[in-house]
Amino acid sequence: MRAALDSAAQRALQYLEALDDAPVSTGIASSVLRGRLKRPLADAGVDPEQVISELVWDVDGGLAGSTGGRFFAWVHGGALPAALAADWLTSAWDQNAGIYASAPAATVVEEVAGAWLKEIFGLPAEASFAFVSGCQMAHVTCIAAARHSLLESRGWDVEQLGLSGSPRIRLLCGDQRHGTIERAVRLLGLGTGNLENLKTGADGGLTPAALEQALDRDTVSPTIVFLQAGDVNTGAFDAFDRLIPIARSRGAWVHVDGAFGLWAAASPRYRHLISGIAAADSWATDGHKWLNVPYDSAYAFVAHPHAHRAAMSYGTSYLAREGEAREPIDWNPEWSRRARGFSTYAAIRELGRSGIAALVERCCEHARAIVAGIERLPYTEVLSAPIINQALVRFLDPRGRDHDRHTDDAIAAIVNTGEAFFGGTTWRGQRAMRISVCNWRTSERDVHRTVEAVGRALAELRAGS
Ligand SMILES: *Cc1c(COP(=O)(O)O)cnc(C)c1O
Repeated sequence: MRAALDSAAQRALQYLEALDDAPVSTGIASSVLRGRLKRPLADAGVDPEQVISELVWDVDGGLAGSTGGRFFAWVHGGALPAALAADWLTSAWDQNAGIYASAPAATVVEEVAGAWLKEIFGLPAEASFAFVSGCQMAHVTCIAAARHSLLESRGWDVEQLGLSGSPRIRLLCGDQRHGTIERAVRLLGLGTGNLENLKTGADGGLTPAALEQALDRDTVSPTIVFLQAGDVNTGAFDAFDRLIPIARSRGAWVHVDGAFGLWAAASPRYRHLISGIAAADSWATDGHKWLNVPYDSAYAFVAHPHAHRAAMSYGTSYLAREGEAREPIDWNPEWSRRARGFSTYAAIRELGRSGIAALVERCCEHARAIVAGIERLPYTEVLSAPIINQALVRFLDPRGRDHDRHTDDAIAAIVNTGEAFFGGTTWRGQRAMRISVCNWRTSERDVHRTVEAVGRALAELRAGS
């Protein structure tokens, strides 16, 4: 055991300690990686330490620098020291966290961390929860509960009867919703054809009038309303305190996609953005984004434990077993599962309430500083200034020809510097560069280096064209 594990720990530390100086991305070709990794399936085994050292060698240059401080593409968090260490131990302990009997400590850790999370987000104390792999599966878990509840109230047992012949469920969402909503709908058999994309307003949120009209078009069908805390492009929030009462008064189930935006709740400065959110029926958020827990960490919360348990549990009894341990298998979509609560528990203890608030606020400040720095450069335009930690900028073609193409060329040139990593997106018909800051490691120095690199890349692009 010891040789392989010592070697892995040493190499992990070397990797993490070199992050500040290593290129954020090397743009390695898949053929290079395949050339190294694609060995014939061997008949004979290999010494564990050799397996690890060769793996480390073979993936060199093929690891995205997302755990470092200058990776701003998509919405990627990093890994806090205690969270990463707890994740290592999770693998070493190798608990099957499906049931208490096979993972006593892991199930109690989830019970405790789940309650902490509800406190951080200001969600009802009686809400049920599940520790799942990502916000995608948090949506699936929550929407399965919604499906149960809406159809049960119409006398239809969806778990037993399935969906053929059941009342059709309407699905109302904003036109800026995340793609994971659509896939959750697909996986649960609700049909993407039943999704109605409502037009969002200039602020990126659903307008109360649009929601009201859509709901009143059909007052009979069971309905799920999808709201969003933190649009992936702009960080925009729906007006929960106005929208949720409208939906609830018409009997709709309200689900909130708060993959990263729900963390605004942790900060006194940003908490107002989610005002009224506790009145929803279910909420989904990630641990592996803003909480900076290693990947494979997200949380589903449901205001109606009965519906959640009915959709997920494997027993026949829907009654809470008083005094007994919380059984993850009653709330999770998986059977055998990784004890992923340990790293969340460790992250929350490492930061404390004030540390989580500081992390959220620091990321938002860094996002604003990066945008301000880029805005001062020639031929740049801010499409969406940070509401929280997300922003969109665009690079204008100095010859005035093709701003979309110039924006893509500029993103490629910036990424090529190896100093910072950004991704592109299309927003309201225009190409843009997305800036997402949600890594605990990002420092003022990283912000400075990033703006410098953007300035240099743009100047070189202009000189070369
Ligand atoms: C990232 C994200 C998701 C999906 O989360 P995963 O953890 O990748 O499954 C859903 N919605 C929003 C708004 C996101 O930013």
